[in-house]
Amino acid sequence: MLRQRELEMNEKEGIMQVWACGGGVQSTAIAVLICQGKLPTPDFAWIVDVGYEKSKTFDYVKSTIIPRLSEIGVRLKIIRTIDYFDNSLFDATNNVRLPLYEKGNDGIVRKYKTHCSGTWKQRVAHHWLREQGVKRCDTWIGISVDEMRRIKISSVKWNQNKYPLVDLGIRREDCIDLIARAGWPKPEHTSCYLCPNQPDFQWQDLKENYREDWERAVGFDEYIRSINPNLFLHTSCKPLKDKAFDTKYTNKFFVGKECFGDCESIVEEGGGSNL
Ligand code: SF4
Repeated sequence: MLRQRELEMNEKEGIMQVWACGGGVQSTAIAVLICQGKLPTPDFAWIVDVGYEKSKTFDYVKSTIIPRLSEIGVRLKIIRTIDYFDNSLFDATNNVRLPLYEKGNDGIVRKYKTHCSGTWKQRVAHHWLREQGVKRCDTWIGISVDEMRRIKISSVKWNQNKYPLVDLGIRREDCIDLIARAGWPKPEHTSCYLCPNQPDFQWQDLKENYREDWERAVGFDEYIRSINPNLFLHTSCKPLKDKAFDTKYTNKFFVGKECFGDCESIVEEGGGSNL
């Protein structure tokens, strides 16, 4: 918990309190706690739009989180990645930015490292914070007790990561309760529509219920193979358009995870080694 004494000391030392919203369950719980006065009002709050989010994520952010926060005077800024960095799937030298899957000649499936979230989210947020004049800050991140392995130190000295839900002992199920008890609508799963970390039930949901996002994901899946014919968005290394999803199988580690720019710390359990 961000204790009063700690906050006063931070203020004295010019350490701002800033909140990185991810738009999912845990971030919505933080928004509820701020609205209820159980967390202090942050100096800055933002969510990064990398340009590939599922449409339902920003529908929820715009219809629920932003209006409720603005009622108590908190502005949640939407920062667009493309205003700061190139958000292409490959960098200038054709290196992959997404954690794509590649089937080698030996038949082994390997997974690429995640560069997208750090480049498209974390670096963008750092640039934006500096533009706002932030010299030192504590960044609140919506990780709950059940995801504590994602806790990590910041990549820059002027920022310290803070985990208010962990400090309060709140689990993901508690977040869902908290949101329901506050009378807010249930948040949806968040991630990019083309995120290779999605479990099958999310791909299936995209295919059945969000046709525009699905068509875009299929288009990108085809596109990456025009650059390298062995690359795939799906872990099975099958084209998305032909894939029959196994919605019974769920890699629990990915379910409900919000992407805050730290996804390089999410490594698939039992999956292929990182390239
Ligand atoms: S949601 Fe997935 S694809 Fe999007 S930035 Fe995060 S790790 Fe990358």
